[in-house]
Amino acid sequence: MYRILTIILILMINYTLIFAQEAVTQVSSDLDFKNLRERMVTYQIEQRGVKDRRVLEAMRKVERHKFVPLIYQYSAYEDRPLPIGEGQTISQPYIVALMTELLQLKGREKVLEIGTGSGYQAAILAELAREVYSIEILEPLTREAEKLLKELDYRNIYLKTGDGFLGWPGQAPFDRIIVTCAPEEIPASLIGQLADGGRLVIPVGVYWQNLKLVQKIKGKLITTDIIPVRFVPMVKGRKNE
Ligand code: SAH
Repeated sequence: MYRILTIILILMINYTLIFAQEAVTQVSSDLDFKNLRERMVTYQIEQRGVKDRRVLEAMRKVERHKFVPLIYQYSAYEDRPLPIGEGQTISQPYIVALMTELLQLKGREKVLEIGTGSGYQAAILAELAREVYSIEILEPLTREAEKLLKELDYRNIYLKTGDGFLGWPGQAPFDRIIVTCAPEEIPASLIGQLADGGRLVIPVGVYWQNLKLVQKIKGKLITTDIIPVRFVPMVKGRKNE
């Protein structure tokens, strides 16, 4: 009897130690990630010229490692895009920051994103705007992103699976539109769904692509080339979608 009690006691102590160790590992890896995120913002984003304080703050806050597959978690803050499954990628952090800065978000905007992917860009937008509507053509990616964004308690992001070439007519017009896959030409439907005074940021081209900013001012369009970029193609949806 005495022996059994001793064994139970030893087992309990062991388990307590294991749990304590796990808790310490969790806290230290959270600190590691916070540190990596700080460095990412300073060296990859601020030093390349992104200035918008709110954008920098959002990039410091959103935990990018939660948006990538487990095996890439420790690469989440590196200066490059990463695979997110289904042959798709999450953009390089600098490009996310640059595109977000170009949108000039002040907090009251209704934003449309084409290409939800992991949901990371949508989370950044949700920190900075009133509402984010995001369309993804691949159902499994929409489902994953939906689950994660719910866990992270974002309540101003609306997702749907569909063809971004159609935009989201039921919610138009949008104050801002951001496209994170590259069409050959700017889709007319998206221009149509952009509010007056609105801004659209979009990579355009097949192999060689250019990031473009389109501003709609009193019905007129002003297009500016920003930098060469490389995004996954914007694919045409099936007719019956
Ligand atoms: N913004 C994403 C990165 C997206 S990668 C993030 O933060 O993780 C580009 C995404 O665009 C891919 O997931 C791809 O499936 C999607 N896509 C490609 N063509 C599309 C289309 N016609 N409509 C909507 N999404 C599209």
